[in-house]
Amino acid sequence: PEPLLSVRELSVTFPTPRGPVRAVDSLSFDVHRGRTLGIVGESGSGKSVTSMAVLGLHTGAEVTGSITLDGQELVGLPERALNRVRGRRIAMIFQDPLSSLHPYYTVGEQIAEHHRVHFDSRRAQAHRRAVEMLAEVGIPEPARRAGEYPHQFSGGMRQRAMIAMALACEPELLIADEPTTALDVTVQAQILELLARLQQERGLAVVMITHDLGVVARVAHEVLVMYGGRAAEQAPVDDLFATPAHPYTRGLLDSLPRLDDDDDAPLRAIPGSPPSLLDPTPGCAFAPRCPRAASASAEVRLRCSNERPLLGGPSGHPVACHLPAYEGVTS
Ligand code: SF4
Ligand code: MG
Repeated sequence: PEPLLSVRELSVTFPTPRGPVRAVDSLSFDVHRGRTLGIVGESGSGKSVTSMAVLGLHTGAEVTGSITLDGQELVGLPERALNRVRGRRIAMIFQDPLSSLHPYYTVGEQIAEHHRVHFDSRRAQAHRRAVEMLAEVGIPEPARRAGEYPHQFSGGMRQRAMIAMALACEPELLIADEPTTALDVTVQAQILELLARLQQERGLAVVMITHDLGVVARVAHEVLVMYGGRAAEQAPVDDLFATPAHPYTRGLLDSLPRLDDDDDAPLRAIPGSPPSLLDPTPGCAFAPRCPRAASASAEVRLRCSNERPLLGGPSGHPVACHLPAYEGVTS
């Protein structure tokens, strides 16, 4: 089947006083109905910028390439037409529901208003729909809770309310940007479970943006690992965990907490910091932090620092590395 969302050669460049910054560089991916694409990377990897581009929310940035939703090109679409797509066909939830929920209106009023704007529904009907949605996302006593204000909700309940609002318009695509990052582990698991259930029931396409491969393991079918605005590795989730080929993906996997860790074991992190987008290297963006390059021959190291690795690979899934390690190859 045709993908619902198809992104081809997407680049997003911001003008800055110190010169243009290319936050996303030549990115391509597909998302199918009923599937979840996990986009993983550190902050500054371009994952949020990518989702904002899909929503057409980059005023002032130069966006090139193609983003199609069910065959309709979104890049260059006039603001009015984009407004009809946003919220209605594509909905988004964020890390902090309080930034999207208005403090002075009840949760029920906000969900109902959202419904009214997009469906031109009557007040009573929109209110009924809001209560139904709150029930669907697992909020107990939904009719009563609909009359409460966001500050009366716990963090987890607020995120459920955000999901209810996002889904009230029956979007085809849901973009979730770190939706569980601010929540404690138990609540995080509940929200991910809820998203997975709603996705299956509604046949939604989901883009899950996260820095956490643990989240990806729980909900994603396909994974795009981003580094420095580019795709580092793309694979079905099982392949990514079974045969991670890019050293950055390996680093992310190594930094996941393990079952056999002591509770007070230090969190492993990838040493070094994300690349400067203002001053991109001609070679691989990961080169300064790459353990595989560090132990490679001088010839390979030269290639890593001077020649940009293109997405490809002799076998398996696409990876952008001059020395991709597939199964059986150790890094
Ligand atoms: Fe490391 Fe070189 Fe591969 Fe980049 S191209 S990830 S520097 S081995
Ligand atoms: Mg972000």
